[in-house]
Amino acid sequence: MSDVTWTVRVDAGLCMGSGICAGTAPEVFALEDERARPREERVAAQERVLEAADMCPAQAITVHDGTAVIGPRPD
Ligand code: SF4
Repeated sequence: MSDVTWTVRVDAGLCMGSGICAGTAPEVFALEDERARPREERVAAQERVLEAADMCPAQAITVHDGTAVIGPRPD
């Protein structure tokens, strides 16, 4: 696995509890009271985290590499 770590955030005010993120990357996202949260703020860099951010219908997930926002990716 890569040594690079990213920071994952979920905006609970935007999340609509679809569960897509937890279905896509269950080791990274958990659903709690119909809102998603990252299991850990720092995660190993992995494509599935970006996929989850891309697929979130509420654009509630942001993925940060240092100070750069790398997800969701532009269409
Ligand atoms: S995919 Fe987006 S809206 Fe759905 S549970 Fe995850 S953060 Fe919330």
